[in-house]
Formats: sequence, C-alpha cells, structure tokens
Amino acid sequence: MEPELFDRVYETIARKEDTYDGVYYTGVLTTRIVCRPSCRARTPKKENIRLYPSVEAAVQAGFRPCKRCRPETPGPHGPDRALAAQVDALIAAGYGGPLTLKTLAAQLAVSPFHLQRTYKRVTGHSPAVQLQRVRLQAARDQLADPSVSMAQAGAAVGFRSPSHFAVWFRQETGLSPTEYRERHAGGHLKEDQQ
Ligand SMILES: [Zn+2]
Repeated sequence: MEPELFDRVYETIARKEDTYDGVYYTGVLTTRIVCRPSCRARTPKKENIRLYPSVEAAVQAGFRPCKRCRPETPGPHGPDRALAAQVDALIAAGYGGPLTLKTLAAQLAVSPFHLQRTYKRVTGHSPAVQLQRVRLQAARDQLADPSVSMAQAGAAVGFRSPSHFAVWFRQETGLSPTEYRERHAGGHLKEDQQ
C-alpha cells in the first residue's frame, strides 16, 4: 500500500471516522485483534497496524475480530453511522414529544457532545435540524388533511400551543398554517421544498 494512502487511513483511525469502514480492516499487532478503522478502542500506534482488505484476510493472518466494533458483521455501516441511524429512528418515533439533544443522548447512553459531533459528521447536519425537518414534513402532512384541526396538527409535531405552532410554521415555510392549508386544499400541489 502507498504510504500516503496508509497515512490517510491511519488519520481516520486516529479520529475514529468511518470513511474506510468496509474498505480496510485494521489488524493490531500488539493485541492480535482486527477492527474497523472507526473502532472506538484506544488508537494503536501506527507501526503496530497492518491493513487488510477483508476480515477473512486478517483472520487468516492470525487476528481475532474485535468484540467492540465487530468487523465481521455484514454491511459497511460503522458505529458512527449506526449511531446516526439510531438518532433518526428516535426522532422518527418521538418527534411529537419533547425531544432534545440531551434526551436523545441519554436514550443512547452517549454524551450530548459526542452525539452532536458524530451525527453531524455522518449526516452533515445536527440532530436539531433533523428534528425540525421531520416535524415540518409531518406538519405539512397534517395540514394537508382537512379533517385535522390546527390544534391537532400542532400537537402532532410537539407544540402544545397552536399560536406557537403557527409562529414556527411561518418561520419555516413563509406561510401560516391556514395559508398553507388553503393552498393545498383539494389535493397535492407540487411546491418548492425550500
Ligand atoms: Zn474494534
């Protein structure tokens, strides 16, 4: 392997990033354990690392799969992506309640700082932005249904007060909930998402 590529992969190992997860596997000579590059275990010294193109190749060379990052489990998803996916699932299930970075972190047994940083690195945006997006889409869906009242639409996306809901909705879309509903009365109109 070219030294520059090795350095680049090592940098992601030191930062516990999942860029090369599923591409390379990190054999650690001192422990004889093979990891995903993003493994959260202590960063091995550069000279103690051998990179392999597959877990099988590393196992054949005498390494045991790490119990922490489980490199032998299928899929390219490293622990960072798995954590981000768990956040998405919690938001999808709980956007109607009082979700915060703190409550999400507590549910996933990680620090809010770690959660924020990891989620942003994987998705490019924060959990708060994701929550806003999911709530906004749900609010649009609610408002498109004429049998749903304004108060119900607001409550469905976490607002106890219809006026707070209206202020938020206008901030996000430029339209009041009533205006939005009028524009969408009688069917699904195509519209700009932004
Ligand atoms: Zn590991």
